[in-house]
Amino acid sequence: MDNPEQCLICDTDVPALFSAKARLSGTIVYDLRTCPACQASFFTPIPSSDALAEHYSKDYTFYKGDNFKAQGKGSAFARKHLAPRLNKGKLLDIGCASGDFLAGVQQGSDWQVYGTDINPEVVASVRTKLGLDVRAGEIEDVGFDAGFFDAVRVQDILEHVPQPLTFLKECRRIIDDHGTFYLSVPNGLADAQNLIDYYTQYESPAFSGAGHIYFFSIDSLTLLFDQAGFRIEKAYSYNFKKGLRSLSKLPKSKHWKRDLTPPVVQQNKSPHTEVQTHKQKQRSAAYYDFQFMKDELFKLPGVHQYAQDFSFVLKPK
Ligand SMILES: [Zn+2]
Repeated sequence: MDNPEQCLICDTDVPALFSAKARLSGTIVYDLRTCPACQASFFTPIPSSDALAEHYSKDYTFYKGDNFKAQGKGSAFARKHLAPRLNKGKLLDIGCASGDFLAGVQQGSDWQVYGTDINPEVVASVRTKLGLDVRAGEIEDVGFDAGFFDAVRVQDILEHVPQPLTFLKECRRIIDDHGTFYLSVPNGLADAQNLIDYYTQYESPAFSGAGHIYFFSIDSLTLLFDQAGFRIEKAYSYNFKKGLRSLSKLPKSKHWKRDLTPPVVQQNKSPHTEVQTHKQKQRSAAYYDFQFMKDELFKLPGVHQYAQDFSFVLKPK
């Protein structure tokens, strides 16, 4: 790539415009730029794999949470979405983290499950604890056979990857021609606005704590799916209240700056330790099914600009 201000999603010659300064956990400060053609925003230059690996090694909050809840969600997903399409199949979860979702799918259906994650320590622990076929690395490097999977799930991952189109093309390659691609991604317009507002207010780079480096508009997502060889079967929008707050259509929440300010690391304490004290309790499958349906009920069909998050069911073209 010659010009770091060039949009990597659409082919416009017009350089992306400066929106804010932002950073990950390292000391490098990036420009957050917005493409005037497709409205996607992205870190400029795109952070190196080293910078991203450093960020993920510092923040383990991605890998914590309620394991029973994640398993329950996996079982419910298998019963409500996978089994009605195919009794038996192969599912890949890219960015599978704790692997609990996959374990849930396995318990709730006759599907075979596979996972990948970029954190090798996490992958090793999932293999040992859950005995699942989980592999470490970027999806482009793991090398599954073409058409191997009947379903692939990518939950809140696309906004983290340095080359989204390459990533999606690889997803298309490993999905069977009749397979299904389940993708969820933040509404980039709402997601980027908090970083822009923080920078505007404090003249200090916003901290992209979750590690988001791309902020996709609806147009840029449509373009990416098309270029990667997918068509949209279903689209949903959710987290409207959060979206309205991010876009300042409602007053910002009291804690809106918390995620944009780097955590203060006290001596002998790792950041975000409160997450690790989460109490866990296993509940019935019916309870998790009910929770799953309740979450789905709050998703509105279609893509709406005021939502914080989108989810898509995509099919190969
Ligand atoms: Zn663009």
